[in-house]
Amino acid sequence: MKTNDHIYLDYQATTPIDPQVMEEMLRFFHEEFGNPHSSEHSWGWEANKAIERARGEIASYLGADNDEVFFTSGATEANNIAILGLRQYLKRENPMVLLSSIEHKSVFEPAIHITSNSTKVQYIPVSCNGELDISFLDRMCYDKVGLVSVMAANNEIGTLQNLKEISFICNKHSALFHSDASQALMTTDIDVYDYGIDIMSISGHKIYGPKGIGALYIKREVQKLVSPIMFGGGQESYLRPGTLPTPLCVGLGCAISLLKDKNAERERIKFLRDELFIRLKEKIPAIRLIGPSLDNRHVGNLNVLFPEVDAQLLLGAIQPHIAASSGSACTSGVTGPSHVLLAIGLSPTEASSCIRFSIGRMTTLEQINHSVEIISAKHNQICHL
Ligand code: PMP
Repeated sequence: MKTNDHIYLDYQATTPIDPQVMEEMLRFFHEEFGNPHSSEHSWGWEANKAIERARGEIASYLGADNDEVFFTSGATEANNIAILGLRQYLKRENPMVLLSSIEHKSVFEPAIHITSNSTKVQYIPVSCNGELDISFLDRMCYDKVGLVSVMAANNEIGTLQNLKEISFICNKHSALFHSDASQALMTTDIDVYDYGIDIMSISGHKIYGPKGIGALYIKREVQKLVSPIMFGGGQESYLRPGTLPTPLCVGLGCAISLLKDKNAERERIKFLRDELFIRLKEKIPAIRLIGPSLDNRHVGNLNVLFPEVDAQLLLGAIQPHIAASSGSACTSGVTGPSHVLLAIGLSPTEASSCIRFSIGRMTTLEQINHSVEIISAKHNQICHL
């Protein structure tokens, strides 16, 4: 963190690299810099060994086998492979795709891209807390549903979906189940077999790993249904060609292995997040918690509605002291209210009064206290303009 006057409360946009992750990555930039696909000398062997170790760490954390984990450039690419890669299968077999109405754009956009005369996309409604309507999903699965995609944890309102119930319904209707779990691992462990997930996306920079790396888990039996969306070398079993970035793969492996036994950290983050809301509510009683209750959401996520205040104005007023956001980083800058907030029933005006704060590993109680003072002071100034 820069100074105590620059408080970072945007951990769901991205996290800093954990120092231990950084340490592990460094030597693969300059000492062990070989091409991991060079099979004829020790530079290649060493890099390859490090990548396979990282793959093993990811697989072991997710309860998967090593050959079910494919490196990608991030969750965006993983989501794209999951959906575009199934295009032929869907066309051939079961041409209906169901998505929750609060998915990330990197799920929505590829799904729209495969929509055709034969392949159709439908949206599964969610409650005012963002929870998927399971009985609705069951009813929607009536006919030729090939793929259901539901994110594990929402990036804006922190909703955690009941993945086991969803996978049960998918299984009942022989539909594949993909979950974008980029935001989930900071708040919960996911064992892909236990949860019955067929395909799952993760991202390095949401879990104190580097940016530009992610992974796609694909259950072995499902792999034959997924086609590559890029062509070139035969890396990653021809599914995702291109030279693997050894330091980034090592970083993702290390970051994920550091998530083991993180329950104490999760409790600490939840305590700080709860404090932020409780203290803000004392200072500004009119604020509203948006999304699920504090005990039923991503431990670091807080989405607050400041009635009759333009969130952009308040966010601007707290600069450069506090980093927070009005939507997901991938869509901030895009005008118009967040589709997630509209999907849970907020009006466009209400949606434009919401700010997402996200707490993380480096947040302190002192920073929370300081943030409450800054936010309430700037809020009062705006209200009295
Ligand atoms: N899905 C979700 C839920 C996300 O929050 C993000 C990042 N904002 C992504 C996908 C994209 O991840 P990446 O930056 O690794 O491409």
